[in-house]
Amino acid sequence: MINVALDGPSGAGKSTIARAAAKAFGFTYIDTGAMFRSLALKALSCGIDIKADPDAVEQMLSHTSLDISRSGDAQLMILDGSDVTGLIRTPEVSKAASDIAVIPFVRTWLLDAERTMAARYNCIMDGRDIGTSVLPNAQVKIFLTASAEARATRRLAELKEKGIDVSYDEVLAEMKYRDEQDSTREVSPLKKADDAIIADTTELNLQQSIDLVCDIIRKVIC
Ligand code: C5P
Repeated sequence: MINVALDGPSGAGKSTIARAAAKAFGFTYIDTGAMFRSLALKALSCGIDIKADPDAVEQMLSHTSLDISRSGDAQLMILDGSDVTGLIRTPEVSKAASDIAVIPFVRTWLLDAERTMAARYNCIMDGRDIGTSVLPNAQVKIFLTASAEARATRRLAELKEKGIDVSYDEVLAEMKYRDEQDSTREVSPLKKADDAIIADTTELNLQQSIDLVCDIIRKVIC
């Protein structure tokens, strides 16, 4: 199987770009952030204080099922039998996803599912630690990045389109919080793999960013 690992900070455009590139190559797109988000959603709805009580999160996972299903290009997240895809993109869940991703047990719980999917499909998998820890042998590794301001502007537009009302400052603050926590956590921090190619999209529009990523993939696999 051909595996492409696409890592980078929040709002770098990983999911949009990965979805388009997967379509271009006929690969499956796997969004690992959605897995962390789904578990965070459950913890929030159970009233668990994620940062203060990681043991409660561990206990929660003992009676949690998480599946991925597909509807055309879209990846649907099925949490305990219900489709939660439309509920996991709020700023509250974003922050909680970063908080829950710090817990080593949570990462181990998801690792099996991530590797099983990569063994089954030619795929582009996006996340924070795909090239460094989930798929260290991926044939292509890309670290997608952009300035914090460019990322916040794009994320704000995305949230507004979904009808979520937030300010630029709130989005930028949430992004910086996640960048800091994701890059400094002890287990599997957000980090460029030594053999990853950097794709900086600060000055690029969406189509140029997609073309850049597709060119990198094509050069390696064709
Ligand atoms: O990519 P997305 O913004 O949906 O990810 C939500 C959160 O999940 C991130 O801020 C990060 O803390 C966590 N995550 C992770 N490892 C991954 C994917 C996501 O820690 N492979």
